[in-house]
Amino acid sequence: MLNFYSLYSGSSGNSLFVETDNTKLLIDAGVSCKKIEKALSDIHVDPNTLDGILITHEHSDHVQGLGTFSKKFDLPVFVNQETLDAMPKQRDKIADKNIKKFKVAEKFSIGDLDINPFSIPHDAANPCGFTLFNDNKKISIATDIGHMTNDILKNLEESLFVMLESNYDPEVLKCSSYPFSLKSRIAGPSRTFIQRNSWKNHFIFIKIWIKKCYAWTFK
Ligand SMILES: [Zn+2]
Repeated sequence: MLNFYSLYSGSSGNSLFVETDNTKLLIDAGVSCKKIEKALSDIHVDPNTLDGILITHEHSDHVQGLGTFSKKFDLPVFVNQETLDAMPKQRDKIADKNIKKFKVAEKFSIGDLDINPFSIPHDAANPCGFTLFNDNKKISIATDIGHMTNDILKNLEESLFVMLESNYDPEVLKCSSYPFSLKSRIAGPSRTFIQRNSWKNHFIFIKIWIKKCYAWTFK
């Protein structure tokens, strides 16, 4: 069994949940602890049964509830060193014993999930996406990608499922109510979000816009 749930997705907060026969993992905790508890309860998952929280990068829409959630349920946090250093407020709430560091491009395991973290272009300390393997099944997660790279493509190959989160459209951006500074950040040279043209070139991906819990099961 390999279940995937998007609990929250979008600029107001991100949190994903992956479950196998004997492993339960949260990926990012970008909404309040209370909201994560509510979303897990909606899919009948007790937070006390989680094996840990995997972190993509330190932006608040990915870690806002992390420290409190880890502390409340005594959960390990899997994170790379640079990301950890870039979120001191969250770091302070996490018990030392619950800090589990991984290195980008080095595989590791949590229960029966094998995890391969890979670099993504984004304006964060050391942002990464993940490929997750269980029983010959592979799913991939790449959020906030700035632009597509050959390395990302290689990592996503042969996935049963790819979750991409990005929302760049130059026309929509121009008309949006975002402040100028944010518009510049999105459209600027170190683009936060994927370019529309590059998106079209890589149509193998599934673009997903989800505001509420959504689930996929792979048998
Ligand atoms: Zn981000």
